[in-house]
Amino acid sequence: MKRECSIVRDLLPLYFENMLSEDTAAFVKEHLENCSDCAAEFECFKSGKQIDKAETPQRRNDANVIRAVKKKIAKKIFKMVAAVCLVFIVLFSAIMFYTSISYSVTKDNISLSTKADGGYTYIILETEAGKSLSFDSKTEDILNEQNEVCGQRITLYNLQYHNNFSQNANSTSWGIPLSDKKQYMEMIVELGNDTLQITTAE
Ligand SMILES: [Zn+2]
Repeated sequence: MKRECSIVRDLLPLYFENMLSEDTAAFVKEHLENCSDCAAEFECFKSGKQIDKAETPQRRNDANVIRAVKKKIAKKIFKMVAAVCLVFIVLFSAIMFYTSISYSVTKDNISLSTKADGGYTYIILETEAGKSLSFDSKTEDILNEQNEVCGQRITLYNLQYHNNFSQNANSTSWGIPLSDKKQYMEMIVELGNDTLQITTAE
């Protein structure tokens, strides 16, 4: 390779970018017209540069497409999560609402019974399936004629039903040992205008 060729090849990138002074550019141009080797080299360089230039917008375009797809996926995921959350909130509110509805209790809704079992005597209060019963209660001693405690009186009041999802009838029981001298038990259930009453002596 001639010395001039070597210099021209070093200058080719600058020549391509039009960054040479007028004189140097003229020198390179003249050399390329007379040297087929360097001219071929310049063609090669030019086509390589053009591919680079052509590729860059393509790549940028690809990156944009990927970014757009990612955005779309993120949006979809966000929408799905939001939808699932909404469904849960609606369900939760519906359950809260359903179970917060309260009903007044009538004597047809509950039943009282007694049972002796395993050394205990019980009063059992049974309620409907699908309902939970809430009430307040107070317990008092019952005195005999000698003013001795002979038993207990349990009074239930403020009875209210709430919905729940249980399929079985609920029962609540109060027990007292048969050996206890105060084994007599009496239950009074106050229901608005009605009063239910049961004793273990019956
Ligand atoms: Zn040359």
